[in-house]
Amino acid sequence: MSHVRGLTCRECGRAYAAEALHACEFCFGPLEVSYDYDEMAAAVSREAIAAGPPNLWRYRELLPVGEGDPVSLGAGFTPLVRADRLAAELGLGELWVKDDTRNPTGSFKDRVVSVALTKARELGFKVAACASTGNLANSVAAHAARAGLASVVLVPSDLERVKVLTTAVFGGQLLAVEGNYDDVNRLCAELASDYPDWAFVNVNVRPYYAEGSKTLAFEVAEQLGWRLPDHVVVPVASGSQLTKIDKGFRELVRLGLVAARGGHEDDPAGPVRISGAQPEGCSPVATAFRAGADHVRPVKPDTIAKSLAIGDPADGWYALEVVRRTGGALGSVSDAEVLEAIRLLARTEGIFAETAGGVTIATLARLAREGVVRDDERVVVYVTGNGLKTVEAFSDTVAPTATIRPRLDEVAEALGRSGFLGAGDHEREAR
Ligand SMILES: *Cc1c(COP(=O)(O)O)cnc(C)c1O
Ligand SMILES: [Zn+2]
Repeated sequence: MSHVRGLTCRECGRAYAAEALHACEFCFGPLEVSYDYDEMAAAVSREAIAAGPPNLWRYRELLPVGEGDPVSLGAGFTPLVRADRLAAELGLGELWVKDDTRNPTGSFKDRVVSVALTKARELGFKVAACASTGNLANSVAAHAARAGLASVVLVPSDLERVKVLTTAVFGGQLLAVEGNYDDVNRLCAELASDYPDWAFVNVNVRPYYAEGSKTLAFEVAEQLGWRLPDHVVVPVASGSQLTKIDKGFRELVRLGLVAARGGHEDDPAGPVRISGAQPEGCSPVATAFRAGADHVRPVKPDTIAKSLAIGDPADGWYALEVVRRTGGALGSVSDAEVLEAIRLLARTEGIFAETAGGVTIATLARLAREGVVRDDERVVVYVTGNGLKTVEAFSDTVAPTATIRPRLDEVAEALGRSGFLGAGDHEREAR
């Protein structure tokens, strides 16, 4: 049963019915789903969650949907991996990687889309639409296909080839727009008023979409044995995911599913430090953080981390507020650091992340060096997308050790040249 009370304006607090609305009519502030937490607390327990399906729908009581089958390809409940080798390289102690590369279409977007389209279908929509930096496109096209909904997806035309192909394959309408994401998003906002019977996952049903990111907090707490981490590091594009991870942890405390551990005086229910990661070529929120600014100034993105390339982030200000309130930090890293971090994660933990994951790992490394993320903290880093989607970013930096003919001596010679086999090994080979 749904415990939704309605939508509430985050700026002026006005209340709205739980419909396809995203902005306040009075102050244009963003709307957010609000719940009856007493009713929700009475309906949830650790045991009931543990008995649920091995995907995000095990947290159904904490999500803004009613009865009926969800629109699901099985997203969520991805592995939380203890990363000791990576921790050793970074000088950290207890480090965990939340491996969201393992979602059905290879990114965390499957979480938000599963929730958004479940709600959209409940509200009677027949068409799913979105503006996307790539991963959302994949996910909307796939989930719409699964749900029997039509889809209209708009992406910047310079997107990674794989993200275009893996969206087109699902057979919906895919429009490549000559412009950057912010142009595409503006076009979508206009379309949303011309086609009110389409569910734009990141426009008119955005409040529901955003709630899907809370499951990134729920799963981490459950997988840690219903304990909270001390510090999490999260990639930032629009900033929505970061703010909802904070909301998710706070809801768990409020519902009595995890013990509160004493946060700041003015925020007792928010004990988890939340830090954010952006690529240097698109770091409006990190820049505002460093400058101590009280607003986020839009930028023109130029980065290989295309899934994070939102120059005018809708939730940027709220993300900044969460980071400051929880005692975290926001950092940004260069494209070169991103590529190096992808290889670091791959060689230490066997996880191949897309460029957004490289941004997050590289930022974690930086914050660890600066002493912001500490070795006495239980740290979780969110790796949100699969490396197979952004192989172009790599084509120049990764290659076979050597190309050889099928002969023993050529193996020995190649591995000698790479330094894998030493001089002694060569001799053994020669005998
Ligand atoms: C969209 C996306 C993000 C960030 O999401 P926001 O909620 O817009 O900040 C992070 N990682 C990946 C891989 C994404 O596709
Ligand atoms: Zn308002």
